[in-house]
Amino acid sequence: MENFYDSHCHLFTGKETINLRLLFEIIFGFPKEQQKDQAVQKMLTAKRDIFERIREKIQLLKRIRNFLKTGFSDSEGDILAKMESSYGVRFKVAPLMFDLECVFVAERTSGSVDFLTHQEAIVTEYNRVVNELHASNKSFIQEAITIISGMKMADRLSQDHSDITELHQLSLELESELALFKNEKIATQNLLVSLISNYDIQLNDISQLKNSYPNDVYPFIAIDPRREGIIDKFINQIYAENIFCGVKLYTPNGYSPADTDLMKPGGLYDFCVQHNVPITAHHSFSGFATPLSSVEIDGLIYDKGVQEVHGYVSLSKVFSASWVQERATRFNHPDIWEKVMEKYPTLKLNLAHFGNGNAEWQKKIYRMISNPKYVNMHTDLSCWCNLKDQDNDEIGLQSFYDLYYKNASEYVKGKILYGSDFYLDLIYTDSLSSYLSNFNEVFPADEFKRIAFTNAKRFLGV
Ligand SMILES: [Zn+2]
Repeated sequence: MENFYDSHCHLFTGKETINLRLLFEIIFGFPKEQQKDQAVQKMLTAKRDIFERIREKIQLLKRIRNFLKTGFSDSEGDILAKMESSYGVRFKVAPLMFDLECVFVAERTSGSVDFLTHQEAIVTEYNRVVNELHASNKSFIQEAITIISGMKMADRLSQDHSDITELHQLSLELESELALFKNEKIATQNLLVSLISNYDIQLNDISQLKNSYPNDVYPFIAIDPRREGIIDKFINQIYAENIFCGVKLYTPNGYSPADTDLMKPGGLYDFCVQHNVPITAHHSFSGFATPLSSVEIDGLIYDKGVQEVHGYVSLSKVFSASWVQERATRFNHPDIWEKVMEKYPTLKLNLAHFGNGNAEWQKKIYRMISNPKYVNMHTDLSCWCNLKDQDNDEIGLQSFYDLYYKNASEYVKGKILYGSDFYLDLIYTDSLSSYLSNFNEVFPADEFKRIAFTNAKRFLGV
């Protein structure tokens, strides 16, 4: 029996440092899931089934609890063990690091970090999102109790009421787990700063994990060109240590895909082409982005077309409408990536998430992976949690298969990778098993084998 590969997942834990990435996932994910829940609740209200509505609510809160428990695991090894308990031992995984500190580098030339001025906005937004969740849980429980107590005696007695008790307990449990900034200890400035300075911890943890499971774990190192010396260190030292299989880029954090240090002779892309090192770049229209309102750029950005910038780019205020989409457009537009590919046509690049959230991007990525000039260009389906379409820009897995995969040539089918985005996907899916079962429903066994085994092996170079 052959193995499968999850080409895109995350194992960094929030235990030691209350990872800011995890905090943002809560800020982005909770409102989205609550909206979905409201739609389901509305539909169930029409059916007048309060007990089904309670079960639906329990499912949402359990999902949130599972996300938190996983994110706050004691170690990266514990998160890996959770993946294994869903996947079984047949799966091998490619965990990607994340560089949080560089998200706050406003001045590229001096490398100065500006976190403190944004700290209040982040804590306020977190508290707002969390309080909204608590308020909606409380009012739902109140409503449910009122409906149940107004029911006819016979109807009421015919039902099992343990669900409402469970819901109440779950909501209390989440209230205490999410009270991160009510705790005096954590609210101190030093601990807030530690939210972002965990690059070395990740580097250390992932190296240990690779040493413990050399044949199961294929880590990708986060490289942000603004982290001083990291590209040279990777080229001259880290790569030879055989811990990292590839490189992770996350350009909405505030740098250009065509950043000078990535593009220059002897820079990162040059090295990756020479050694056939795979690069995975975050490429959805949502996710994390720099909260800064001005960043110093050295390379190409997109602003009604690709433009060269060597200086400051102004951005809208963090948490204002479409602020993530604005940064995604400026720093991650596929037209910028095409410029990278034109210069490095054999670069082994994976534009991750297949541009989820932007139909135009998806068409563009599809054209690029179909282009025979870019032989090593890939895309992955990580965090594709929905089977059905949400809207035109956020199609589900079934539509991906019908619109893009089914009639693709063998060549193009060879460019698509399976990934989960575990555990960041846990807000949007009940479990890794249910995530995987969507794929098994859509992809016939031999096609799943193609994206999770054949293509992955070639991309990872294993
Ligand atoms: Zn990811």
